[in-house]
Amino acid sequence: MTTVLITGASSGLGACFARQLAARGADLVLVARDEARLTAAADELHSRYGVGGEVLVADLLERDGCARVEARLAATAGDSVSPVDVLVNNAGFGLPAPFPHSAIEDEERMLDLLTRVPMRLTHAATPGMTARGRGAIINVSSVAALLPTGTYGAAKAWLTAFSESLRVDLAPHNVKVLAMCPGFTRTEFQERAGMDLSSLPDWAWLDVDAVVRQALHDLHRGKPVSVTGWQYKAYAFAARHLPRAVAAKMARSRTPKN
Ligand code: NAP
Repeated sequence: MTTVLITGASSGLGACFARQLAARGADLVLVARDEARLTAAADELHSRYGVGGEVLVADLLERDGCARVEARLAATAGDSVSPVDVLVNNAGFGLPAPFPHSAIEDEERMLDLLTRVPMRLTHAATPGMTARGRGAIINVSSVAALLPTGTYGAAKAWLTAFSESLRVDLAPHNVKVLAMCPGFTRTEFQERAGMDLSSLPDWAWLDVDAVVRQALHDLHRGKPVSVTGWQYKAYAFAARHLPRAVAAKMARSRTPKN
């Protein structure tokens, strides 16, 4: 039986990973701050699929909260809980204002959650995975990582580069690493970030189930980066092939911040 730890499992992409992985028979360790939502999800998935649903309530921006999740990831076969085979670094949020107009404390919290936290959790998880000779890490990045799109995109660019480099380091140990790069996906992300995206056309939106399904498929196929949807595949192609200055201008004027 596979055990998967998902951060930010109380809503959106994280909750969707929990549903799709439970349907495939994985036991879950669900991490977020909202205990009621995590418990409801764990109970529902246990009764529907018979899988284990551990709830680990933690604010990952608090030293103690992050340390408890790191300790869970470091558990080995001799411990009272199952070792974690798959880590999904998903918890995150965006900010409503561009860097010059946002509070430095908010910028620092966002940078921490999008970079320092996944780095620490990955560091805790990898020794066990490499010793067992199997495992996987999915880092939820963004298409915003592909071009200069503010500090959110810069943090996600770190996460994508980290994933691609770690993938090479862990390949000899049979541990897979995937950077998942969604475009606009219907979750609570935009509302929590205070973004008004009412003018965004329908074609720009992705379905959360499709994004997660594609990522699990790409992980299985050993791809380094997962992009869902023709519109974001075209965006990724343009980001790679247009002159950087032209692509950056296009990104600043037309691209959504997530
Ligand atoms: P969401 O619905 O707002 O979910 C965010 C999750 O992160 C929630 O479960 C939240 O849980 C958790 N979280 C936030 N702060 C936390 C903290 N300090 N400690 C622990 N958990 C925390 O948004 P989403 O779209 O699913 O976002 C998931 C990931 O996808 C993020 O990394 C985001 O950057 C990325 N992404 C999203 C989009 C999009 O358009 N939706 C596009 C590209 C990338 P609690 O509030 O219960 O703690």
